[in-house]
Amino acid sequence: MPPASSSRTPGPVGWPEQLITQAEAFALAADWPVFTRHWHDPKKNEQGISLYCARDDKPMGQLRREGTVYNGSLDEMLSMVLRHMVMAHDVALNVRERHENRHVPEEHASG
Ligand SMILES: [Zn+2]
Repeated sequence: MPPASSSRTPGPVGWPEQLITQAEAFALAADWPVFTRHWHDPKKNEQGISLYCARDDKPMGQLRREGTVYNGSLDEMLSMVLRHMVMAHDVALNVRERHENRHVPEEHASG
């Protein structure tokens, strides 16, 4: 008998804080061109709104479907955009390393 916890339990989205803070992620994702598109599936008689990447016209995720809101929080929306940036465009998320470049091991004495 499978454990009950193995069923699909909607939990909070884990944020990789050690990799990127939400503020950094927001700055990164804010530069990315995205748009929303209203879609309609006549076969299923469903309609909704999805978030799209403007660089390759690929869907990043659903925002709404038949009146139900998906990925409605800032966390989830950021995660959608970042996931697409990483997986489809090889964008590096470790922006923090760049900021810490000032800690150079070999210091040049001034003067
Ligand atoms: Zn894309």
